[in-house]
Amino acid sequence: MNLDSLTIAEARRALDVKEYSALELTDAYLDEISKRDGEIHAYLEVWEKSAREEAKAADALIAKGESKPLTGIPLAFKDNILIEGHTASAGSKILENYKASYDATVISKLKEHNAVFLGRTNCDEFALGSSTENSAYGPTKNPHDLSRVPGGTSGGSTAAVAANMALGGLGSDTGGSIRQPSSLCGVVGMKPTYGSVSRYGLIAAASSLDQIGSIGKTVADARSIFEGIRGHDKHDSTSLPDSFFNEKRTVKKVIGVPRAFLKEGSDADVLAEFEKTLENLQSTGYEIRDVELPNVPYSLAVYYIINPAEVSTNLARFDGIRYGLSVPAGDIQSVYSKTRGAGFGPETRRRILVGTFVLSAGYADAYYRKARAVRELIRDDFKRAFESVDAIAMPTSPTPAFKIGEKSDDPLAMYAADIFTVPVNLAGVPAISVPSGMVPREGKNLPVGFQIIAPHGGEDALFTVGEDVEKGRG
Ligand code: GLN
Repeated sequence: MNLDSLTIAEARRALDVKEYSALELTDAYLDEISKRDGEIHAYLEVWEKSAREEAKAADALIAKGESKPLTGIPLAFKDNILIEGHTASAGSKILENYKASYDATVISKLKEHNAVFLGRTNCDEFALGSSTENSAYGPTKNPHDLSRVPGGTSGGSTAAVAANMALGGLGSDTGGSIRQPSSLCGVVGMKPTYGSVSRYGLIAAASSLDQIGSIGKTVADARSIFEGIRGHDKHDSTSLPDSFFNEKRTVKKVIGVPRAFLKEGSDADVLAEFEKTLENLQSTGYEIRDVELPNVPYSLAVYYIINPAEVSTNLARFDGIRYGLSVPAGDIQSVYSKTRGAGFGPETRRRILVGTFVLSAGYADAYYRKARAVRELIRDDFKRAFESVDAIAMPTSPTPAFKIGEKSDDPLAMYAADIFTVPVNLAGVPAISVPSGMVPREGKNLPVGFQIIAPHGGEDALFTVGEDVEKGRG
């Protein structure tokens, strides 16, 4: 087996005709992890022993001819998704010793497939960041250039897939955390429609924005993982009914591009690659139209009010009593403040402070409620645009991977990395990032991603257009 070109689709075929076993496949990935992860640091923990047991169980099913699409497929899991009995730290010191007491719904679903769980991957603390540098456990490196970030916050999972240390993986995307690191690492990452994948068992960052999604080397692989984890869940009150997705939607070939918006802070060669991909699509029969999204330029401002507001509320539960770290002190108030002071990193504290401020009496009208109102306008922008186009395209990220340390002292520069991804979470629509070319930086070639955005429930359009982008690259 050649891990460089191996896909889930190909592994499924080879496993089912017994060219190799799930155990051999798992061992190949464990080998690669032991060779490369010392320098990349994609994993916080590798579950070698249980992964090999799971692979053997998968082989037994395959021998009986009972395999499912993901049986025996070795996958990597972001550290904010609960797996019973395993540590889930969300990249934070405060949860360093927290062991999950139940499986997230996405995990139960993958267990039903008998997938192989390789380990948990590094991420920015509580999924707050754009570079994986906010992890309490040190940064992950970009496999294309070890002096650069993999993107964030699911940078551990995307680096693992890019470096052949997993065949696919799961991440979470609150404002771009699957798509942006997928773009920077040269893999495919999708954020599904809000409500299509259960959030039960995902350590919450900002609940109205969070969504678990899939990472793979190809659009077909990201799709097969998505299909393995999607579906209504009674444990998540925002979960959509399955009937929502049964409606047949025809995918035509009209793509909208909000050209006026794309100029903001984008590198010229990233835009040139984007235009080249559009031309390829056009030559295969797509119509490319300009669309206007007049309120979308306010997305960053809106996101960085709503996200901290929800983060400050969700993280109130980490009080030194209920979960994880507890710093002893003389009275309960001091236990709270000492635990939170010792357990949360600087970006998390910044979000809690901003969030508490924008929600506080006297300021909530000026900031939080105003942001909520503009969020509705952004949703309407997308709705209106989708009346005349089937999908909207933008670069995933305005730049390729940046240097480790380059933006870590400048939160606003870090936030600007999300300019093309956060509008999607505010609107709740699905999007995918597909590798679309390389740009040179300091003697290395770095991947850039092409982002496709579809209306609610329009995942099929993402896969159709995404596969055409792949074909265009040959
Ligand atoms: N970079 C964004 C943030 O810091 C998005 C994070 C995410 O999608 N989890 O909030």
